[in-house]
Amino acid sequence: MSDEWGVRLKAYEGRPAAVAGVGKDPVNAPMIRHWCEAMGDTSPAYEGPDAVAPPTMLQVWTMAGLGHTGQTGHTGETGRTGRTEAYDELLALLDEAGCTSVVATDCEQEYLRPLYPGDEVTFDAVIESVSERKTTKLGTGYFVTTRMDVRVGAELAGTHRFRILKYKPAHQKPKSRRPRPVVNRDNAGFWDGVAQHRLLIQRCTGCGTLRHPWLPGCNACGCPDWDTVEASGEGSVYSYVVMHHPPFPAFTPSDHAADAAGPYAVGLIELAEGVRIVSNVIGVPYDKVRIGMPVQLEFHSYDDELVLPVFRAREAVS
Ligand code: ZN
Repeated sequence: MSDEWGVRLKAYEGRPAAVAGVGKDPVNAPMIRHWCEAMGDTSPAYEGPDAVAPPTMLQVWTMAGLGHTGQTGHTGETGRTGRTEAYDELLALLDEAGCTSVVATDCEQEYLRPLYPGDEVTFDAVIESVSERKTTKLGTGYFVTTRMDVRVGAELAGTHRFRILKYKPAHQKPKSRRPRPVVNRDNAGFWDGVAQHRLLIQRCTGCGTLRHPWLPGCNACGCPDWDTVEASGEGSVYSYVVMHHPPFPAFTPSDHAADAAGPYAVGLIELAEGVRIVSNVIGVPYDKVRIGMPVQLEFHSYDDELVLPVFRAREAVS
């Protein structure tokens, strides 16, 4: 990054970030109630026939909803993000400058008029400032501040000033590790089993149906009660895919270390007990994995904490 970047980025100051945005929903009591419940705010000002919206909800009324974060255009039958090409260009330029990471740093709001249920908000936003290049603990980059003006009709209801840091990370991530499994109360028993090198299959105590992955109830009969059966470890490849792109070093097969981040096979293994599990097929090059190939369960330690069940091809493949 050179000063040249700074000059190009500064040119975006004062340009619009959003034009003629329209709130997806009018200010409304259910959203106010959910917000108050989430915040634990029991103020009587936000209930009843004379309710106002909590002022800190200002930005909420401008949000487009999931899947509608992109540039311009309609976000649904009513909402519109109003996001401009100028703002997208600025972010793309920052990416190009190597500042590919982003963190929201702070926000300031100013409230000028209460919002009431039924109010329909519109909004515009401006790229207020792009900082000089700064070095932070996260890395080196630029603070971008936008100011959104939220209106009801011609009246300014409030402003929302939002600052992000787009930066080049100071430290690259440590050598990629396998993502950790998400352990929750529904699957904790499975992972406890894996820690003991046992592959446990859930069995419905109502109808005896085996199931994997673990679920809180039986899909066959609805019964919530279950016990477990330990898998024998025998199985076969029911299906598989070979991942070529994008390269993901964490998934480089441990026995093909030379082929760093190369393609790898993801197997859907049918256990002898009849249930299927997604896992790695090891002991065979990715392009030699075949449907029907017999495999045997093993437990592989990927690092200090992570053990996963994997399946080794039972016959040598040339
Ligand atoms: Zn059942």
